[in-house]
Amino acid sequence: MSRRKFLIAMGGIAIASTPGILLAGRSRLAVGVIGGGIMGASIALHLAQAGVDVTVFEKTAIASGATGKSFAWLNAFSDDSHYRDLRLQSLRAYHQLEAEMQLDITWGGSLLWKQQPEAAAALSERAQRLDRAGYRMSVLGPKEFSELAPNLAPGAFETAVYAGLDGHLDPVQVTNKFLDQARKYGARVLYPCEVTDLKFSGSRLTGVATTSGEYSLDRLVIAAGVDTPALAAKIDYVAPLKHAPGILAHSVPLRPLIRTVNEHLPVSFKQTSSGSIVGTDSYYAPEIPAHRDILQGRQDFPGMELRSLHGRRILDRIATMLPGARGVGLQRLTLGFRPLPEDGFPIVGYIPGFDDVYIAVTHSGVTLAAIMGEIIRREILTDITLDAFAPYRPQRFIGQVAHSQATDDKARLLSAVND
Ligand SMILES: Cc1cc2nc3c(=O)[nH]c(=O)nc-3n(C[C@H](O)[C@H](O)[C@H](O)COP(=O)(O)OP(=O)(O)OC[C@H]3O[C@@H](n4cnc5c(N)ncnc54)[C@H](O)[C@@H]3O)c2cc1C
Repeated sequence: MSRRKFLIAMGGIAIASTPGILLAGRSRLAVGVIGGGIMGASIALHLAQAGVDVTVFEKTAIASGATGKSFAWLNAFSDDSHYRDLRLQSLRAYHQLEAEMQLDITWGGSLLWKQQPEAAAALSERAQRLDRAGYRMSVLGPKEFSELAPNLAPGAFETAVYAGLDGHLDPVQVTNKFLDQARKYGARVLYPCEVTDLKFSGSRLTGVATTSGEYSLDRLVIAAGVDTPALAAKIDYVAPLKHAPGILAHSVPLRPLIRTVNEHLPVSFKQTSSGSIVGTDSYYAPEIPAHRDILQGRQDFPGMELRSLHGRRILDRIATMLPGARGVGLQRLTLGFRPLPEDGFPIVGYIPGFDDVYIAVTHSGVTLAAIMGEIIRREILTDITLDAFAPYRPQRFIGQVAHSQATDDKARLLSAVND
């Protein structure tokens, strides 16, 4: 019997997935969550709602990692049926959370279009396949396109596809809402507060050491984005991530022009509910020393001049398809680092050999946060391993040797494609 099952049996606890769960005969289950990004925030919310004593440790500020630099397109684009289904479940979970918490999500769908006949045929074939599999998609002619998005000027296209279930959100706002709600259920959100070490008695977790002292915990969830491998390495687990940087230009606010997420590769763009046009324009970074450095490791964007050069170019390119945005001012350019597991799928579950240290790291974490928070809560509280995560367990990387993060292929450097 695992230690968790033993605790539950000894305490005579009725564990269910309803709010108000307590560890009988002792204080509430104390769970620490490392990371104040959208994933940590969703996990904290779901656990706190269920009556768990939650502490979130964030080393910098809320949503200061990948979350604050995310394109935040909610979609289910995947040819892997299990993964696509998880993503579709998350879109549904967002509808539920939105109703409960007034999240600001734009459910405008997404538009993808292609000019080249070969690429257009591939897009059309993929859309029909995904549609048959339950991810609703329609192929549009020019008239339907302009009815749906009258302010877009797509130019002549061979195929256009509309994914009507998709949406987009402001990841910083949603992360803050999740944490505000978690606080209402009693969660503590500590920042700046960096977890510097994990504490054990044998293989049993006792707590964490942080820059603001030590905390006793029953369980720990590591949701630290690209810093997850460094934390997991403290217990000799290798969480292999690719190095996958991406930039996004944010314009100053404009009047409402579009609700769809728009992808005409290599350009992707959307308009936030506050009016800002957000997007990117290219797969490839020119071969200059500054880009080589970014390809090799995490760093801030080198220099204001380069920042505004990229931002201007991206916004001008977007404006060729969105004439209403012509000449719009650049508000900021962000450079973010995707927590992208080596095989492209989430790493989620208890770390092998540790009954009380759980890991949750994934790309498309904005899309997935809603459902992952819910399933993680159920796994932590019931000790049942759920099929929803079966292909994504940390065990699949056992035997990997630690190595410096490989850089993802160049095609992702400046793109938000299929995020
Ligand atoms: C350019 C770009 C575009 C993207 N586009 C999309 C998209 O369109 N759709 C989508 O679904 N996903 C997208 N993603 C991916 C998505 O943003 C991420 O998967 C998601 O934000 C991950 O959230 P997270 O909470 O796991 O990680 P993060 O947001 O990185 O949060 C981790 C937090 O942990 C904190 N931390 C780290 N170490 C410690 C420590 N020792 N102690 C305390 N705190 C610590 C960090 O400070 C950080 O705030 C994109 C990402 C990028 C960069």
